[in-house]
Amino acid sequence: MTSKERQFRIPPRIAAGGIKALSDWMIVRAEQKILPRVKRHASNLGVTYRDAEISETRYRWGSCTGKNSLRFNWRLIKAPVAVIDYVIIHELAHLIEPNHTPRFWNIVRSQHPMTETAKDWLKEHGALLEQRL
Ligand SMILES: [Zn+2]
Repeated sequence: MTSKERQFRIPPRIAAGGIKALSDWMIVRAEQKILPRVKRHASNLGVTYRDAEISETRYRWGSCTGKNSLRFNWRLIKAPVAVIDYVIIHELAHLIEPNHTPRFWNIVRSQHPMTETAKDWLKEHGALLEQRL
């Protein structure tokens, strides 16, 4: 998890378009990066979901509704890929176990050995969620 992994290049054309252009671009980037991983992890876990979307809401990295719809915050693309995978696996594990029970954590850890490291990273970088960009 070096700082280099967290960097991404913003095309000058987009940067010149202001905050809206920039956040739209980041959402597209997030869709391209996150959604295929959701699909892959779901098949590893043997779960199916109704839909997965990138959300714009602040304060949460991801969520899973009772209707099996998954939401991931586009700001996740600022995180190392191991952290992105953790958030995805966490939400997918809720399709099996809705609560944070020992069974839930066993499922998450079986799919993501670096669970604790990822949780620590999210705790440490929680402020990233509140940034507009
Ligand atoms: Zn949870």
